[in-house]
Amino acid sequence: MTLTAPTPPPRRTAPAPHTPDAAAGPLSYLDPQHPGPYAMFLDQVDRVVPYLGPLAVWAETLRRPKRILVVDVPIHLDDGSVAHFEGYRVQHNTSRGPAKGGVRYHQDVTLSEVMALSAWMTVKNAAVNLPYGGGKGGIRVDPRTLSQGELERMTRRYTSEIGLIIGPDKDIPAPDVGTGPQTMAWMMDTYSMNVGRTTTGVVTGKPVSLGGSLGRADATGRGVFVTGAEAMKKLGMSMEGARIAVQEFGNVGEAAARIFHAHGAKIVAIQDVTGTIACAAGIDPALALTHLQRTGAITGLTGTDTLQPDEFWDVACDVLIPAALEKQITLENAGRLKARLIVEGANGPTLPAADDLLADMGVTVVPDVLANAGGVTVSYFEWVQDFSSFFWSEEEINHRLDRLMREAFRSLWDVKEHYNVTLRTAVYIVACTRVLEARALRGLYP
Ligand code: NAD
Repeated sequence: MTLTAPTPPPRRTAPAPHTPDAAAGPLSYLDPQHPGPYAMFLDQVDRVVPYLGPLAVWAETLRRPKRILVVDVPIHLDDGSVAHFEGYRVQHNTSRGPAKGGVRYHQDVTLSEVMALSAWMTVKNAAVNLPYGGGKGGIRVDPRTLSQGELERMTRRYTSEIGLIIGPDKDIPAPDVGTGPQTMAWMMDTYSMNVGRTTTGVVTGKPVSLGGSLGRADATGRGVFVTGAEAMKKLGMSMEGARIAVQEFGNVGEAAARIFHAHGAKIVAIQDVTGTIACAAGIDPALALTHLQRTGAITGLTGTDTLQPDEFWDVACDVLIPAALEKQITLENAGRLKARLIVEGANGPTLPAADDLLADMGVTVVPDVLANAGGVTVSYFEWVQDFSSFFWSEEEINHRLDRLMREAFRSLWDVKEHYNVTLRTAVYIVACTRVLEARALRGLYP
């Protein structure tokens, strides 16, 4: 795939005129008092509209998810009782291609969250120019409370329930928080059983032995590193000895910490759901992972201090990597941050008001829709490999990923400079322009 440099839309100083459909009113299925994470996305759309030129007439397309499916997922628990879980699949936009985005298992999943995550996928996929729209799914469940058998039954029933709208050329799920390669193997098998043929390309993030891609496990963390390293170059920061603080030590945070460490940076703090540790001399991520796997907690690693969760935000560091969940950087803690650079491994970790404060403080933020795009990029490679049944080496995948992410970063940085906006707004300008160009060219059916 070649990455074309984005064509900046013409400069505009005044907002584009409102269109008749913009008067359609708020989304009735969002609680106006507690709109949840989707309000963050709506705020981001409002910020980009003035830069969309004539395409602004289509902006309502961005505000309204194309398709929302809410499903009941009943399963037999191991004790013979029946439990019901609420599941979602949201296809925010499919103007540029099939919907694409992960599935989250977490006790706090809401429709608003899945809507926001699916919308961010639309922006992310367009930002790095993948031929996809945006989608996301989730089940409101704490997966840690289910046995392996219960997880499998829940995954299979959920897959059947959303089976109507997913497919390798319709909507391609992938892992997110609380799901992984095993979940994708069950989803692929269930979908295949239902359609009567093995269809590996219906999900990505599968085990390598089932059509998964080499390099997928580390891809998101690797993209965080590549974009973070590019930003550090732009800011004149040295990688050697750079102090990095990582929030979360799962798929994304652990890989990012490991790769930064391998390139000479120093991991000075790690926070996860089990606790917070810090060490000014640096933490070896490999030792931290072994310790976590052995003891079940990040705390207690030899040579590290244990901090209170809130003290994480005061740690002296150069780069902060929030790689957990949404709404972590708030107006309350943003002013306390010491980092010059924030690289958003998680989706939606910074509230819009905190984003403004960080910009005023001169802190550069590599936004989620760029920083964590490495995962979906290698998912795209996996999908392409599945279609052709021809698999690439890990070296080739990493090389393509690094190049694509580096080129995307550089061209988006140029747009940021051109408009004198934050990198987040620059990414939204380019991505929303691409999505709405496709929308305008395709027109409305019928
Ligand atoms: P993960 O499943 O590896 O979990 C991250 C951590 O969250 C775990 O280490 C654990 O401490 C905690 N956690 C998991 N389940 C929990 C539960 N039920 N309750 C409380 N804590 C729990 O997550 P991840 O895949 O690394 O995702 C982290 C962030 O990165 C999310 O915002 C996700 O949307 C984003 N992201 C992930 C990918 C990917 O490829 N996995 C890609 C892009 C963005």
